[in-house]
Amino acid sequence: MTDALHDLRQRTRAFAAARDWAPYHTPKNLAMALSVEVAELAEHFQWLPSGRAAELAPGQQAAIRHELADVLLYLVQLADQLEVDLHAAALEKIQLNAVKYPPSKG
Ligand SMILES: [Mg+2]
Repeated sequence: MTDALHDLRQRTRAFAAARDWAPYHTPKNLAMALSVEVAELAEHFQWLPSGRAAELAPGQQAAIRHELADVLLYLVQLADQLEVDLHAAALEKIQLNAVKYPPSKG
C-alpha cells in the first residue's frame, strides 16, 4: 500500500471511530455508498457533449473534485473492510489488462 492510501485509510478509520459509525460500515453499505457517490459524480456530466472543462458551469469543477474525493474515500473504506490492498490490486489488474489488450504498436 502506498503512503497516500495508507494515510487515507488511517484518517477514514479515525473519522468513523470518532462517530461510532463502525456498525454501519459493512461491505454492503460501503459498496452502496460508493455507487451513490459514483452516480453523484456522473450527474455533473449528464447531457453534456463531452464533459470537458469548457462545458462546466462556474464552481462545477470544485463540486466534481469533491465527488471524486467521496468516491475515493468510500473505495478506501470498502477495501479496508475487505482487507484489499488497493495499490497491489490495481497493479495486478493493469497487468491482466495488458495481457487481455496487447499494444497495437510495438
Ligand atoms: Mg457526494
